[in-house]
Amino acid sequence: MPPYLYERQTGEFFFLIQYIEFQKETQLIKTAIHSILKEITGIFNNNGKRLYLVGGAVRDMLRGEKIHDWDLATDAHPDEVTKIIKNAKGKVVPTGIKHGTVTVFYKGHSAEITTFRIESKYSDGRRPDEIQYTSDIEEDLSRRDFTMNAIALRLPEGEIIDPFKGAEDIKAKIIRCAGDPEKRFGEDGLRPLRAVRFAAQLGYEIEEKTLNAISGALSVCEKVSQERVRDEIDKILSSPLPSRAFLLMEKTGLLKLFLGELSACRGIEQKGFHRFDVLDHSLYACDYAAANNFSHELRLAALFHDVGKPKVRKMDSSGVWTFYRHEEVSAEMTRKILNRLRYSNVVIDCVCHLIKEHMFNYTENWSDAAVRRFIARTGEKNLKDLYCLRQADSSAFAGKEPDHHTLTKLADRVEKILLCGRAFTIKDLAVSGKDLMKAGIPSGKTMGIILNQLLETVIDDPEQNTKEKLLEIAGNYFKKIHTAAQRR
Ligand code: ATP
Ligand code: MG
Repeated sequence: MPPYLYERQTGEFFFLIQYIEFQKETQLIKTAIHSILKEITGIFNNNGKRLYLVGGAVRDMLRGEKIHDWDLATDAHPDEVTKIIKNAKGKVVPTGIKHGTVTVFYKGHSAEITTFRIESKYSDGRRPDEIQYTSDIEEDLSRRDFTMNAIALRLPEGEIIDPFKGAEDIKAKIIRCAGDPEKRFGEDGLRPLRAVRFAAQLGYEIEEKTLNAISGALSVCEKVSQERVRDEIDKILSSPLPSRAFLLMEKTGLLKLFLGELSACRGIEQKGFHRFDVLDHSLYACDYAAANNFSHELRLAALFHDVGKPKVRKMDSSGVWTFYRHEEVSAEMTRKILNRLRYSNVVIDCVCHLIKEHMFNYTENWSDAAVRRFIARTGEKNLKDLYCLRQADSSAFAGKEPDHHTLTKLADRVEKILLCGRAFTIKDLAVSGKDLMKAGIPSGKTMGIILNQLLETVIDDPEQNTKEKLLEIAGNYFKKIHTAAQRR
């Protein structure tokens, strides 16, 4: 085998990829194309149509990475694609027919096939007013966002079509607009967000002119739907180093536009507690969460856990900044931010709960009742996540590994207490609402108050969690409430 070829086994795909240096000579990528892809290409060719692998698939292949999905482009019109695939006993779903895209299912595999197109006018800053099909692959490539995403690989032989020298940019790890950045960003306000997202995902630099054009396109970015912004934020959070994108967003004005609450954390010094201002601290915490493969909710919680600090900051008499109740205000603000970005209620509740509880200060003096109260407040299923958030938070105090010692001690105490039985929610009480009703306590608000008081009692002293004792305590509470009401 020639020295410039290397083999790579990537899941079900097996590629022989030529080093990019040699493309100029041959313009060929030697690759073992998946047999199904070859079969689909054969069917198209027999119908006089061409098929190319395009977009992220080619980019990732040139990076030597695994390909997640097959993005294909063709000169066949969507109607023709449908007919060709159906005649070959495949299935077609018009998933993005407005953009000329259909998804085809063939012999257990799927691929998105988009008809070559040129885009004309953009008046809403997001979608072209009309779509014009073309038979020229180079025209199709010129409507794509970045040079690294504007490369096509002709199937089945692997001829590379790279009018914007995207392969060179991939080699140099550069994100560059395909064409004039001001014009390209002016057409579609999602592109600047994609640029910063790719910078974090791939660890690439954004080329200077491309980067400089972002701040001029903010009024177009403003038109992007919150759902699309959220999808990009999610991809940033899933990247190895989210801060890379958020700092680029800050530099270009995108952070102020989409996450103004976070950008207001810049310059909020917290000397006495931290080396960093609130924004850098939050970004470090988020990077820690990403580096340690924490869940998506934890990454969001790490990013926003201190977002309320600018609002509550006050200087005390000794000249030290204080941030009382910042966890509550941060949770409230995060709820608004995540609602605005159309996150699901399940995600919002989980993230905000973690943020609200993140300020526990465990010491060995905590009584068992205090540990039980901590478990009840946090919720047993959230304990591990809260420890993780605390790790991310404390690692970002000084930008080094957090002190695991205290957390380990708390976790040990929690484990021991959980071994002695569980009475942390109303469901765990030895009496139910029905039992209380039988004892003469009417259902409604009073019943709710009494059940909560019983829970407090049991958390303080689990020995009280027997039916007999709780009925007695409940009876006494009820009498007290009843007498107080009569006096009024
Ligand atoms: P990934 O799927 O990993 O997010 P991708 O590059 O495949 O990355 P897709 O959103 O799947 O991104 O888009 C496929 C291709 O379509 C891109 O590679 C690019 O060529 C083109 N494209 C996507 N969004 C835009 C856009 N907003 N403007 C111009 N071209 C775009
Ligand atoms: Mg893709």
